[in-house]
Amino acid sequence: MKIQSITGSLSAIALAGSCLLLTGQTKKSWTDAEVLKIHKDSYLVDLHNDVPMVTVNGKDFSLRGAGQHTDAVRMKEGAMGGQFFAAFVPSSYVANNGSAHQTLRLIDSIKEDIWKKNAQFAWAASTSDILANKKAGKMSALIGIEGGHAIEDDVRLLRRFYELGARYMTLTWTNTNNWCDSSGDINNPKVKHWGGLNDLGKSIVLEMNRLGMLVDVSHISDGAFWSVIETSKAPIIASHSSCRALCDAGRNLTDDMIQALAKKGGLMGINFSCDFLSQKAKDANPMNRPEVVKERERIMAEVKDQQEALKQFRALMAKYRGQTPRATLEDVVAHIDHVVKLVGVDHVAIGSDFDGIGCTPDGLDDTSKFPNLTRALLEKGYTPQMIAKIYHGNLIRVFSAVEKTAASMK
Ligand SMILES: [Zn+2]
Repeated sequence: MKIQSITGSLSAIALAGSCLLLTGQTKKSWTDAEVLKIHKDSYLVDLHNDVPMVTVNGKDFSLRGAGQHTDAVRMKEGAMGGQFFAAFVPSSYVANNGSAHQTLRLIDSIKEDIWKKNAQFAWAASTSDILANKKAGKMSALIGIEGGHAIEDDVRLLRRFYELGARYMTLTWTNTNNWCDSSGDINNPKVKHWGGLNDLGKSIVLEMNRLGMLVDVSHISDGAFWSVIETSKAPIIASHSSCRALCDAGRNLTDDMIQALAKKGGLMGINFSCDFLSQKAKDANPMNRPEVVKERERIMAEVKDQQEALKQFRALMAKYRGQTPRATLEDVVAHIDHVVKLVGVDHVAIGSDFDGIGCTPDGLDDTSKFPNLTRALLEKGYTPQMIAKIYHGNLIRVFSAVEKTAASMK
C-alpha cells in the first residue's frame, strides 16, 4: 500500500528504458493458448496485494468489483497461482493503540471473506502448503502483515500473528515506528529516527527468524535495510519494491541493495505503481501540484475512514488521468530484467501492490491481465523455466531457507 502513489502517478505512456534484452530464446510468436499454458504452469504467486483493506469493510470479494484491481473473478481470469494478501494497518491506528486490533480484523477478513467464501483458494502457511496447492490446482491464500507497528512493539503479538498465519511482515509502512526507520519519513527532521534498526528492532528481526516469518524490507529506510542485512540470520524479501536505478523513488532498491539482498539469498517483488516503475511518470506526478497538495491534506485531516479516503484520493487523481504519463507493461519487464542482469534470475518475483496503488501499468491494469506479463517475458527471451522461478520458484527457495533457519533456532 502506498498512499503517495494513490496520490501519485497516472496515465499515458512511458516507454521503457532501453535496458532490457536477454539473450537466448528467439522463439517467434506465441499463441494465446501457448502463453496461457506456460502462465498456468508457472503458478504466479504475487507477493503483495492490498484488497483486504476493502474486504474488511464489507466489499464482496466474490463479485467483479468496480474500482478495484482484485477479486475472485479477475484472479481466476488472470490464472494466478496464489497471493500474499496484505494485512495493512494504516499509521493512523498507532495513536490510540489500535494497530493490533485492526491487524486482527484484516486477518479475519482474509480468512473469512476471501479464503473461506471462494472455493478456488486453499490456505497456505508453508512451502509444502504452496506446493500441495499447486498440485491440487488451487490458488494459495497467504497473509503478509504490512507495517511493523502492527505488533505494538511486543514480540508476544508477533508470535500470535504468526500463529494466525502471517508469514511475512514489512518492518515499517511509510511511518518510522519505535524500532525501525521508514523511507517514508526519513528526511523529516521532526521524526525521531534510530539510524536503521534499534536494539528492539534487531530483537524483532531475530524473533521473526526464529518463528520462520519472512523479514520484509519494503518501505524501510536505506539505513534500516543495511541493519537488517547485518542482523537477519535468514534470507530476506522486499515484497513490493522496484529498482531505483530505473526510477528514483526513495523506497525502490539501489543496485547495491539488490546485490546485498541477492548475496543473502533473498528476493524482491517488482511493484507495479507507475511512479515506482517510470521516471517519466514519477516526474510528472500530480502530487507536486499545489492544488493537489492542499486537497490531499484536507482529505488526510478530515476523512478518518481509510476506504473513503482512498476513494477520494482516486477521484482526485482521476482528474489528471490522461495528462501525465502512465507506466507500461514494458516498464515492468525492464525492472525484472534489470534485477536479472544484475544478480541473476533467482532473486526477482512479482509484488504488484494491486489495490494499494492508484496508477497501474498500461497492459497490467488489474489481476486479470497477468497473462500479458507472461507473453511479454516470453517475447523478451525468457524461458518458461525462468518465468516459473520468477512466479513461484524463487519464493519457494527463499521461504524454504527461512523455514530451515527457524528449525535450526528452535
Ligand atoms: Zn506498501
